[in-house]
Amino acid sequence: MKLLRVGPPGREIPAMLGPDGRPRSLADHLDDIEGEALSPASLDRLRALDPSALPALPAGARIGPCVARPSKIVCIGLNYRDHAAESGLPVPEEPVVFLKGCRPTGPDDPVPIPPGATRMDWEVELAVVIGTRAWQVEEDEALSHVAGYAVLNDISERAFQHERGGQWTKGKSAPGFAPLGPWLVAAEAVPDPQRLRLSLAVNGRPMQDGSTADMIFPVRTLISYVSRFMELLPGDILSTGTPAGVGAGLRPPVFLGEGDTMVLEIETLGRQSQRVVGGTRA
Ligand code: ZN
Repeated sequence: MKLLRVGPPGREIPAMLGPDGRPRSLADHLDDIEGEALSPASLDRLRALDPSALPALPAGARIGPCVARPSKIVCIGLNYRDHAAESGLPVPEEPVVFLKGCRPTGPDDPVPIPPGATRMDWEVELAVVIGTRAWQVEEDEALSHVAGYAVLNDISERAFQHERGGQWTKGKSAPGFAPLGPWLVAAEAVPDPQRLRLSLAVNGRPMQDGSTADMIFPVRTLISYVSRFMELLPGDILSTGTPAGVGAGLRPPVFLGEGDTMVLEIETLGRQSQRVVGGTRA
């Protein structure tokens, strides 16, 4: 089952992808895709629907973020050995946790350059969408708290992240810095989240090509670990880190400028494409 949100920003309609690849409206069944709509009972109700009996939405309409309003986006830093190495940082002994303070945007929405940005960068990541409250969760039950998975581009402004004093959150939170989707793929369709290929290209040039098999801390460990410090709520997003190939890791480094296009993809989860808009190349 694939859930998505279709329509103009702020007025998206919840939908399910039909067998013909067209979105089918869930407006008669759900207010939106967020919070308790992602609970196991709610997802079971949606699974019982016949998609071909739901109203078809126009093909080619804008796709919004696949979750409407997460209470938070929790991110994991340096969760792939090759990315820690290219960042010149040691492999962490415990997961590095930070928050991303922006709203998710659609998978193909433009990404505005925030004022003062000079080192904008890309990070393809496996995002976990939480379905039930997780607090003090053991690893062996952690995956039972997952509603599904999606692609997230953890767009980063490296100067804000590293050159403005503590806390990476400064460089991770500008509007448009969390494209999410195109759809939420329900957990049963992803039997092993540690066997997914993920890749990203900029202006057609391959930059990242990794596998979730290479995570230092797998998804079940991350959910358990984060739940020791905060409660994860239905609809929350846990983004699990990026493999090597970010712009800051290249010699010389390469950063995003106006007109650049990112295309990213995770096996089973779909593809995003964003154009960088506004501002000037540093
Ligand atoms: Zn990241």
